Amino acid sequence: MAVPVSLVWFRQDLRVKDNPALNAGCDNGKIIPVYIHDTTLPKDRLPGSVTKWWLHHSLNSLNDRLNGHLHVFKGNPKDILLSLTEKYDIEDVYWNRCYEPWHVTRDKQIKQALKAAGKKGHSFNGSLLWEPWDVANQSGAPYKVFTPFYRKGCLASPPPRYPKAPPARITYADIAKAELTIDDLLLLPKIKWAEGIAKSWQPGEEGAANRLADFIDDAIHHYKTARDFPAVAGTSKLSPHLHFGEISPNQVWYAIKTAYGDSENKDIDTFLSELGWREFAHHLIYHYPDFPDKNFNKKFDYFPWRKSSTDLKAWQQGKTGIPIVDAGMRELWHTGYMHNRVRMIVGSFLVKNLLIDWREGEAWFWDCLADADVANNSAGWQWIAGSGADAAPYFRVFNPVLQGEKFDKQGEYVRAWCPELKKLPNKYLHKPWDADDLTLRTSGVLLGRDYPNPLVNLKISRERALAAFNDIKGK
Ligand SMILES: Cc1cc2nc3c(=O)[nH]c(=O)nc-3n(C[C@H](O)[C@H](O)[C@H](O)COP(=O)(O)OP(=O)(O)OC[C@H]3O[C@@H](n4cnc5c(N)ncnc54)[C@H](O)[C@@H]3O)c2cc1C
Repeated sequence: MAVPVSLVWFRQDLRVKDNPALNAGCDNGKIIPVYIHDTTLPKDRLPGSVTKWWLHHSLNSLNDRLNGHLHVFKGNPKDILLSLTEKYDIEDVYWNRCYEPWHVTRDKQIKQALKAAGKKGHSFNGSLLWEPWDVANQSGAPYKVFTPFYRKGCLASPPPRYPKAPPARITYADIAKAELTIDDLLLLPKIKWAEGIAKSWQPGEEGAANRLADFIDDAIHHYKTARDFPAVAGTSKLSPHLHFGEISPNQVWYAIKTAYGDSENKDIDTFLSELGWREFAHHLIYHYPDFPDKNFNKKFDYFPWRKSSTDLKAWQQGKTGIPIVDAGMRELWHTGYMHNRVRMIVGSFLVKNLLIDWREGEAWFWDCLADADVANNSAGWQWIAGSGADAAPYFRVFNPVLQGEKFDKQGEYVRAWCPELKKLPNKYLHKPWDADDLTLRTSGVLLGRDYPNPLVNLKISRERALAAFNDIKGK
């Protein structure tokens, strides 16, 4: 009897280890691994510039792991999958689930279309510790607040699936290679702007495993305290690897548990709870499909956002005249990453001090972040704006000067990204506008020439934001 052939459809699970769909496909016989560059995505959800760069390298890494057997396509996944099942007389298609609302809709349609054609679509959980529909509050409704979601929902549920060993053997169906190559997807930028990003990262399954191993050896031991200091390598930097599924959260969770056991440890608990925030963000977009684009708190539909392309541009380019904000925006531009503490500071500055809609910030992050992720990005922005589930209260306006003085006390972070300020004494580094003329002159800084004057007065803009918030309170 001929060995059955199935399709394994890779999406945001670009790995061979702990890949439930790949394991299931291999258990069923021979496989054809495919990647489909989906052209049916909503326009504003096409991969951003930096994620395209990452995807190019990650697909190459996966192709190497599959000994060059990855078949690449571009178009409508439903049409492509159906035509492949017809062409090669395939009954079963395997994939791991994605939770973005448009992916959920698309995947349901594909399952139905396969069924109508007498085939089967099998989907698995390959990227979350707990499925969004398995975690509910006492009345069976989705959670809206993080702490009960994580403590009473997730941690009180059965533990996450233990990572699977990679398939003992992968047997590939002997078919002609697809016409497209990874290069044909044209994911790399035409102009060479990605050198800084290339220096900062190693996309792919091996890069992800190295990152995790380094983190477990070192930074995890100081995670709770060091994670807030942007000049310190105090976090895992696993976010893009997790986004692309080069490593599963289950691998991370159990690697930590195996290394440190279940004993009480504040560093481990805090780190695992950050994975919990990732779960929460996916829980939100699954249960509230509008969440990525619409205010979760509808009062914010009345918020008097300002439109100012000049201010938005200054923020994007790291030219606001507020050093820690500019440092963050430049780090983002050069490395495709920004430290979490700084994401909160630049986010608060945009939506509160500049009164610019959080969706503008979300869109810029989407284009520039290597870890751009619909769930985490929209949850982060709605949290900062105060419009989200369990959000920071709107009246909590981060003061970028105090934040800088607290979390970048010696100024290493600001000096690294705003070198024009590097000679300023620490006392003025986070507020150069307060420095006297002599200090500025001896530090080689003329405000307005070498470094911008602040775009807004922090105190006045804070009051303006609070007044705007007061206006929508009663809505
Ligand atoms: C405005 C804003 C936008 C953000 N956009 C994104 C985004 O597009 N993609 C993204 O992955 N994260 C986003 N975050 C969350 C967070 O900043 C990053 O996940 C984190 O900085 C990644 O660095 P790390 O891997 O070293 O994190 P670590 O501190 O090592 O955390 C480990 C993992 O936990 C998850 N995680 C940590 N913090 C959060 C969080 N607050 N929310 C959800 N998951 C979290 C990430 O997967 C991360 O890799 C955003 C935060 C804010 C405030």
